[in-house]
Amino acid sequence: TPEVETAKPQGILGRMFGAEDAVVRRTLDDDMLEQLEELLISADMGVDTALRVTANMAEGRLGKKLSVPEIKQLMADEITRIMEPVARPMPLYAKKPQVVLVVGVNGAGKTTTIGKLASQFQATGKKVVIAAGDTFRAAAVEQLQVWGDRAGVPVLTAPEGSDPASLAFDAMTKAEADGADLLMIDTAGRLQNRADLMEELAKIVRVIRKKDPDAPHNTLLVLDATTGQNAIQQVKVFQQLADVSGLVMTKLDGTAKGGVLVALADQFGLPIHAIGVGEQIDDLAPFDPQEFAAALVG
Ligand code: GDP
Repeated sequence: TPEVETAKPQGILGRMFGAEDAVVRRTLDDDMLEQLEELLISADMGVDTALRVTANMAEGRLGKKLSVPEIKQLMADEITRIMEPVARPMPLYAKKPQVVLVVGVNGAGKTTTIGKLASQFQATGKKVVIAAGDTFRAAAVEQLQVWGDRAGVPVLTAPEGSDPASLAFDAMTKAEADGADLLMIDTAGRLQNRADLMEELAKIVRVIRKKDPDAPHNTLLVLDATTGQNAIQQVKVFQQLADVSGLVMTKLDGTAKGGVLVALADQFGLPIHAIGVGEQIDDLAPFDPQEFAAALVG
């Protein structure tokens, strides 16, 4: 269906029913369920999750007549049910420094998310240190410094091409000396050579564990929500590379592509700590399943 560029992104059912009169009642039959399934799949929810949602919607209601708002509410409720268990903010521990390793492919929004998180933690009185662990991309280091300045947080850097693990070790030392509450470590995100990246991440973990055997306390995987089903593959890959403890989904502003979050929650059950809703420092929000489901359904 052609969409007007300027139109507000419509949700899944907004596209199916349009602005139809709320009093029209439709039979929840196999035809409709099939249609709903297709819509969910085209919204990046994946076949298994789409089937689960429609099966739950149909339970005890097959053949019943429902209004469009009722169908929307039913779908939103099922999506909310899947999302509620994963909507959890990043856990904070008494550890000083609490070490947060941030992983994800280049362009996912790691740098931006670290800047936003640093700003949020600062605002709650936490002392934060950032380590620019993607030492192979000078631009990434510069960008992280810009975010550090914005958030008012020190950013530790190392010369281009130097060992990220040794930077991580130095950052641990500085964070300890500064009495920092949180140390956020950015990492490289090039997947072209997975073996190298795995070794690099493993070495960072090994080295920081010399200072604290429990570190990293959180390993955040940053995912770009607009990459759709691709995000599923990224979770699988990064779970092999690192001990992923939670997700941040970026670029959920201005896109109706969020369906992949439901598939992620359904398949992996990893907590979604926060969502990126823009490019500015305050554009990081807690994940609200009900609001998300309502927007997705439309
Ligand atoms: P990195 O390579 O993973 O460090 O990714 P960056 O943090 O550099 O982000 C890549 C691009 O995505 C930049 O242009 C960011 O401004 C943009 N970006 C990051 N998060 C969001 C978000 O939540 N919403 C939008 N619209 N853009 C974002």
